[in-house]
Amino acid sequence: MTTISPKHDPSCMDDYDPNSLDAKQALQQILTRLQPIAKTEVLPIRDALGRIIAEEIRSKIDVPGHTNSAMDGYAIDGAELPSQGQQAFVVAGTAWAGRPYLGNVKSGECIRIMTGAAMPENTDTVIMQEHVQKDGGNILVDNTNKLGQNVRQAGEDIATGEITLTRGNFISPAELGLLASVGISEVRVLKKIRIAFFSTGDELQPVGSVLEKGQIYDSNRYTLYGMLARLGVEIIDMGVIKDKKDAIKQAFNKAALCADVVITSGGVSVGDADFVKETLESIGEVNFWKVAMKPGRPLAFGKIKDAWFFGLPGNPVSVMVTFYMFVQPALKKMMGSAYHEPLIINATSNTQLRKRPGRIEYQRGVLTRIEHSDPTVCNYEVIKTGAQGSGILRSMSNANCFIILPTDSSDVEIGDSVQVLPFEAIV
Ligand code: AMP
Ligand code: MG
Repeated sequence: MTTISPKHDPSCMDDYDPNSLDAKQALQQILTRLQPIAKTEVLPIRDALGRIIAEEIRSKIDVPGHTNSAMDGYAIDGAELPSQGQQAFVVAGTAWAGRPYLGNVKSGECIRIMTGAAMPENTDTVIMQEHVQKDGGNILVDNTNKLGQNVRQAGEDIATGEITLTRGNFISPAELGLLASVGISEVRVLKKIRIAFFSTGDELQPVGSVLEKGQIYDSNRYTLYGMLARLGVEIIDMGVIKDKKDAIKQAFNKAALCADVVITSGGVSVGDADFVKETLESIGEVNFWKVAMKPGRPLAFGKIKDAWFFGLPGNPVSVMVTFYMFVQPALKKMMGSAYHEPLIINATSNTQLRKRPGRIEYQRGVLTRIEHSDPTVCNYEVIKTGAQGSGILRSMSNANCFIILPTDSSDVEIGDSVQVLPFEAIV
């Protein structure tokens, strides 16, 4: 890696800022203060997808409920397997899934059995149908089979009384199936958290209107909506607030009354129209940070009444990066999820990346897996998505990952290894 001269990148000459907070520390400070929501509700299990379980679930039944066949084939008493050569069995009946064979299986007999059918009495072994030779009403079984094979034991997935799910478990599709498999139709979960959000800025106009000189469409409310919607929180869209102290104050108070978390974008810099910090100071409690990251340096975190507050920067890419790095883990904690370090992988950079030491950078990239003749070798390569300005939202749209360049690192040359955070791990 090399260091480029400041003249190449004048906007980054101040990357080492002694007043900036390390991004990890900022996240830690946020996470130590927030607690999971205490309110719970009971929902039909399908509606609980994406929620956190608020009770311990013990199974009242065995899953599976009966010892059953794992294959289509023939059920026999394994003690009758031949030690050498072949053994003939008379096919005495059929067992279907849901329609068991209720008779008694005698010595020298077998039962035609389908996958999932309860094992008939006196049988404990299933011979796959592909492994028998048919001989009229008999089958011939050879000595390659093992006692007990192709049989699923009652309770081998979940035994009666066993803890199936505990408080704090996230309900993904697998948990939905697990709940259904033990016969549970309703489950107690943590309530959804309510998030109020709005944009600040005199220049912002709603989509569908005609722009005048100097105006732009409000895109942040749409990216924020998308990121919040995917988290499965309750969304309260409060629109656009003008850069006026009174209007911002009113909006903050209103939002704090109806939400657990208030999120704003814009107005947290040090421009003459940036009133978020001073408004927060007058009605709430605020930690105002310059975080040593790029994009997204200014970030306000605090509280208005009982609602937590995140004041995100205004630039569209900064909004998304600060959301993913700070707000999303914070909301997940409030929703009751345990914190997991995001999944980061290593990739070879196929583009040169400009980087000055002093701030952690989240450049936007396209990650691909390199096919290799040796299938045990797993390699990835990454390229950046063009210009990386914090206002260039296309750099996010074209990307499938963040390329994370650590605080003290400098330029990345082609062929260097970099850390990559796939979007699939966070969105
Ligand atoms: P600010 O932090 O308010 O100074 O805004 C920084 C930059 O982001 C300015 O160029 C704003 O016009 C732009 N910006 C702020 N809010 C939005 C928004 N909701 N949608 C799109 N761009 C925005
Ligand atoms: Mg502004």
